[in-house]
Amino acid sequence: MKIKSIKGVKDILPGEIEKWQWVESVAHRIFSRYGFKEIRPPIFEYTDLFKRSIGDTTDIVEKEMYTFKDKGGEEITLRPEGTASVVRSYIEHKMHGQNPLTKLYYFGPMFRYERPQAGRFRQFYQIGVEAMGSPSPAIDAEVMTMLIEFFKELGLRNLELQINSLGCKECRPQYRETLKSAIKPHLQELCTNCNQRYERNPLRILDCKVERDGEIAKGLPKIKDHLCSQCEQDFAQVQKFLDAVNTSYIVNDQIVRGLDYYNKTTFEVISKTGLGSQNAVCGGGRYDSLVEDFDGPPTPGFGFARGRERLISILPEEKLQGLEQRPDIYLVCLGEEAQKLAFPITHQLRAVGLYVEREIEGGSMKSQMRKANKLASRFTLIIGENEIKSKQYVLKNMDGGEQWEIAADTLTEEVQSRLKSLD
Ligand code: ATP
Ligand code: MG
Repeated sequence: MKIKSIKGVKDILPGEIEKWQWVESVAHRIFSRYGFKEIRPPIFEYTDLFKRSIGDTTDIVEKEMYTFKDKGGEEITLRPEGTASVVRSYIEHKMHGQNPLTKLYYFGPMFRYERPQAGRFRQFYQIGVEAMGSPSPAIDAEVMTMLIEFFKELGLRNLELQINSLGCKECRPQYRETLKSAIKPHLQELCTNCNQRYERNPLRILDCKVERDGEIAKGLPKIKDHLCSQCEQDFAQVQKFLDAVNTSYIVNDQIVRGLDYYNKTTFEVISKTGLGSQNAVCGGGRYDSLVEDFDGPPTPGFGFARGRERLISILPEEKLQGLEQRPDIYLVCLGEEAQKLAFPITHQLRAVGLYVEREIEGGSMKSQMRKANKLASRFTLIIGENEIKSKQYVLKNMDGGEQWEIAADTLTEEVQSRLKSLD
């Protein structure tokens, strides 16, 4: 039997990984400007954590979780998202006691049992951000702006920030009832999924992806007309702050998000090109009672998570050029004596920080030069019998074609200075 990878997961191979590393490095750079620090929670947790935070009636908990009993009989789940773990960790390590505003971000794999298709995997990667400890709409605006700045740095265009307010414990229950009565006469026209959502999670009907349901949703009461005065004020403030830094957005009252813990500001960033119905590049919002729900102190939070695969698939070509590292030197060694020298010489050059490649098995001049070309090495260093006798090696610039004889004694210094003169 041939062993193959599991359906819906994939290897990220060299050639592709450079894009991932670049996106990560940009994230580290931009997020740290805003004072966010990285956290690495484990990828599995007790199942209850996700059930209680994400919500029993959500698609994720009902259908998508990888849950199993471990050998000790514990119910374990591979994390389907990151916020729950970050909140658990925040409480467990009493971070609230250290800093009134805790700003964290994470990278890593998430697991959901979904139907694999373009842009939808069973193991996928998210980059997420959580700011915990402030109810201020300024945080909402700052975090969304940070995200947009990050996207700009990646060269992404044609993105749209869509925001909405979901109300709070005060106003949402009433809206929920208003919505239900408005939906009731349409139940027969709505899809089976929405019929199930009707009792348990009627807000989700608003973002159903079935076309006919979407049309009906457009005619339903809007949450923005049912917000309490605090929520209304806060939402207006968020927009003011976004305007103040020219972060453009539209208000889309059909954004409800699939997770129960969201309240007040929620948002998505939509790519207007290239992803079809999997067009949500990023989503997030405020979760003011999640920490309390886990018996932590009252701690309002705001965060987002974005799928890395979808993000990478829309990166502009010009930003992806030259991400693969070129060797500084390719060592071309001819003959047995030269071959013996190859390892100490590569070692010597690597020790000063250069990227050096060579053909372990030796081979003809032609085949070694071909490999140097294939790797787009900047220089080749040619060592044959004559060179060993005269203690003069040949250094060749693979871009310009010029070549120099350099003394074995001063090899490292000369190579370094020739490389520098190219930069
Ligand atoms: P969708 O509506 O596409 O299922 P979602 O609402 O389930 O998305 P979230 O739970 O908010 O998504 O996760 C945040 C981001 O993670 C999404 O915007 C998307 O980019 C990405 N994402 C979610 N599920 C998957 C998946 N199965 N494969 C790849 N990326 C995903
Ligand atoms: Mg989903």
